[in-house]
Amino acid sequence: MTSSPELTFNDGNTIPQLGYGVWQVEDDVAEKVVGQAFEAGFRHIDTAKIYGNEAGVGRAIASSGLKPEEIFITTKLWNSDQGYESTLKAFEESMERLGLETLDLYLIHWMQPKQQKYVDTWKALIELQKQGRVKSIGVSNFSKEGLQELIDATGVVPAIHQIELHPFFNQADLREFGAANGILTQAWSPLGQGGELLESAVIKEIAAKHDATPAQVVIAWHLAIGNVVIPKSVTESRIRENYAALDVTLDETDIKAINGLDRTAEGAGRIGPDPAVSDFA
Ligand code: NAD
Repeated sequence: MTSSPELTFNDGNTIPQLGYGVWQVEDDVAEKVVGQAFEAGFRHIDTAKIYGNEAGVGRAIASSGLKPEEIFITTKLWNSDQGYESTLKAFEESMERLGLETLDLYLIHWMQPKQQKYVDTWKALIELQKQGRVKSIGVSNFSKEGLQELIDATGVVPAIHQIELHPFFNQADLREFGAANGILTQAWSPLGQGGELLESAVIKEIAAKHDATPAQVVIAWHLAIGNVVIPKSVTESRIRENYAALDVTLDETDIKAINGLDRTAEGAGRIGPDPAVSDFA
């Protein structure tokens, strides 16, 4: 079985480039499907406090027989827990649910600009990393200005930035900022949540050319342009299919054609909220 490439963070740790996400997966289902993801070959799991399935992910880890050093686990700090002390507390609660001693990656889930707590929250993540409780720290759903503010205030550059990113919304700007500052880019909703994107003629044509599926082509595009990518499925055959995207190699013409699907210039493409302005608890 092909194993995922590893990308290196600015702190020297590594992350498997292909992972498995569990948003909108109920706790007991998470236990089952994370087990299936491990069997398919995934070693990197992306969860969050707000998903309500850290305990299920923890049970899947415990029953997998895999050693902590063989897997990579990410969880995220929820918006209402932002602030220095509340972050330290929320982290311990997440670790208890996951049943882990050390976490691979902890992310601030959303910038929440109106709260103005993200710098203090980032300082708490830095402290957790210093204490060795978490190996790497990063953020999700920030603006360029927000990232710069964290760096200016603390001198600590996030290891990774997890953002909405798929061929209809390819985030060229934030990817460029990340590359220039040593921040890896991680794509959420990498399949565009599975709707129109996988039906697109361009994707289907490339899939036929490589004897692959549309989902595999989109995942292969993420891998080719250097994203960390965390597709979700609760269907075992698709979990396996998505992992097998590691065996699909796109050529320059394919990548150019997929880059051409971006709708940012038309002010379209985004599915979720805009982190620069969104504010929700
Ligand atoms: P996704 O783009 O991974 O799409 C998932 C959907 O695509 C599935 O529900 C299914 O309908 C379809 N699908 C999956 N595999 C398929 C296949 N092989 N063939 C056909 N259809 C297929 O969407 P997502 O779940 O929104 O994003 C992935 C992960 O990203 C999440 O599970 C979560 O871990 C993370 N995420 C993070 C944030 C954040 O704010 N940081 C937000 C959303 C998602």
